Order: sequence, then C-alpha cells, then structure tokens
Amino acid sequence: MTTWCENCDRPVDGAVCEVCGESVAAKVREPIPWRWRLFILATIIYVIWRIYQLVSWLSH
Ligand SMILES: [Zn+2]
Repeated sequence: MTTWCENCDRPVDGAVCEVCGESVAAKVREPIPWRWRLFILATIIYVIWRIYQLVSWLSH
C-alpha cells in the first residue's frame, strides 16, 4: 500500500517517509465535524422542501 507524505508531496512506500522521516501510516482521517453534517442535513431538508413546494405548485 502506498501512502502520501504531505511534507514532501510524494508517495511513500511503508510507514515512515524516507526523505523527512515523518510517519505517514499512523495518520487517521478526521471525522466530519457535526456542524458540517448539520449544514448538509439542513441543505437536504431545504431542497426536499423546495421540491415539495414546486410539485404542489405544479399540481394546482
Ligand atoms: Zn516526507
């Protein structure tokens, strides 16, 4: 598995970058912040609401 060293901007084979010595395998992907999830949820609800309004407006 090839990982990416952000310091050197190059692919690294293994757990440690051989150029800068930075550990690249231990890096855990950060979870999505709850504010971002709330924003996505609000956007989805808004879009559904707009579609509902459009459908009800077209059906009248
Ligand atoms: Zn590096």
